[in-house]
Amino acid sequence: MNPARVPSRGRTEAAGDLMLRIPCPHCGTRDEVEFHYGGDASVRRPAADADTAAYAAYVYERTNPKGWHREWWFHAAGCRQWLEVRRHTVSHVIESVTGQP
Ligand SMILES: [Zn+2]
Repeated sequence: MNPARVPSRGRTEAAGDLMLRIPCPHCGTRDEVEFHYGGDASVRRPAADADTAAYAAYVYERTNPKGWHREWWFHAAGCRQWLEVRRHTVSHVIESVTGQP
């Protein structure tokens, strides 16, 4: 068996593919196909008077962490809310899900 296809606690196998299951605080646990990934939730927009380098870093520079990561997910086929998900990038275990501040 291909080790990349071994299901972990955060993923389940559906329709022959591995799928993330996200526990939406409004709708309950749903398959990842109902969501759209929104990017790194730890990045904050610079102040309006920040210089170009700060905006360039905001737009283009991202870390690629191996471990816990905060990310935005939009529940497009459910409550249509932005959720902040804390997920382990290796095991895909989801530690917490909260609504947008
Ligand atoms: Zn939802």
